[in-house]
Amino acid sequence: MQLALTNATVFPATGDDAIDGGTVVLDGEMISWVGPTDNAPPADEVVDCAGKTIFPGFIDAHAHLVYDDVSDPYTIELSRPLERAAIDAAVNAQKLLELGFTSVRDVGTRGNIAVTMRDAIAAGKLPGPRVKASKQIISVWGGLGDMHPTHIFKREQYAAALTEIVSGPWEARDAVRQHVKDGVDWVKCEASGTGFNPLCPADRDTMSLEELTAVCDEAGEKGRPVVCHAESRRSIIKAAKAGVATIEHAVYLDDEGIQAVLDADIAICPTLGLYTAFAKKGPEFGIPPEIVAAHNVTHEKHAKAIRRACDAGITLIAGSDSGLSVFPQGGGLEEVCSYVELLDLTPAQAMLTMTRDAASVVGFDDAGTLEAGRRADVVIVDGAPLGDIRTLTREGGIETVFQGGVLAAGALTGN
Ligand SMILES: [Zn+2]
Repeated sequence: MQLALTNATVFPATGDDAIDGGTVVLDGEMISWVGPTDNAPPADEVVDCAGKTIFPGFIDAHAHLVYDDVSDPYTIELSRPLERAAIDAAVNAQKLLELGFTSVRDVGTRGNIAVTMRDAIAAGKLPGPRVKASKQIISVWGGLGDMHPTHIFKREQYAAALTEIVSGPWEARDAVRQHVKDGVDWVKCEASGTGFNPLCPADRDTMSLEELTAVCDEAGEKGRPVVCHAESRRSIIKAAKAGVATIEHAVYLDDEGIQAVLDADIAICPTLGLYTAFAKKGPEFGIPPEIVAAHNVTHEKHAKAIRRACDAGITLIAGSDSGLSVFPQGGGLEEVCSYVELLDLTPAQAMLTMTRDAASVVGFDDAGTLEAGRRADVVIVDGAPLGDIRTLTREGGIETVFQGGVLAAGALTGN
């Protein structure tokens, strides 16, 4: 059955301009036609979408399905059993779909929940975005993933943590081999600390170049790309040189880092919306003013560096890192808003990072654009986010979501 969505503003996400008065025809699981309504072929059902904008399904390139209102190592893992995390992941998956995210890359989970979610969603057991999954975040002692004080856990790993700690290149290779055995699409590792772990701040380097290279070499041999958390200045350069496919956060990115990323021809997922949320909502969550003030200085520098990275021709992909108390699930919509508000991208440029570019970098090869022959992952937004990007985050802005041609969330109201 063909369903024609007509008279809308259609954003094809191919790099071409949006079509005013455009039509998208869905035929089963696929898109069969995109163009001006005047030229549209006949269809079994026609729905007038005047006043609305049609996008390809959104992609969050940096999701953690298990994050639900987390704020520190205690809420990330200690206080919650794995069973709770699995239920949170299922609830979050549905929430993301309702907000237009038809695909996500999960870049760090507990146990093997992301792979399990991927398979359950693919089998139709649960509603949710299609998932490209990684397993736990491969980390080192004293690194991002070594989150609890030494007087409690001294070089001791426990079941169901968010991270897996390795020591040296051979253990790093072992972890990658096991993650591949367990079904991952991506391998996640870290090269720097994080604001989340008071024992390993964001500006501290963690994994050695030898360990990072071992992770990338072993994963590459098995056809799995590597996604790397890298906030500190040198971690960005090391990760790029080691062979990762995407750099996450890149907070202390400098010109040497930009050059290393360009030389490696890889993408950055800056998660700016997360840092903006921390700046805006930190005080109300009890973060001391001096910490928020220091954060704001770093945040401004980060945004400027990411703008320079864009100007240098580096591909940005939109990822949220959401599910935190200060930044709930679905933060990918805030992420693209931050590209307009902080980086001065046009709304159209920002939307490409959440559609075409995220799809091609993450590996959703049949999605990311509205073109005949693509999977019918389609989002209808009420209003004109290509004029005012904040339309996306307005209550009720995301009106209808199709996933593989099936109405997955919202209602198809038409006019
Ligand atoms: Zn993350």
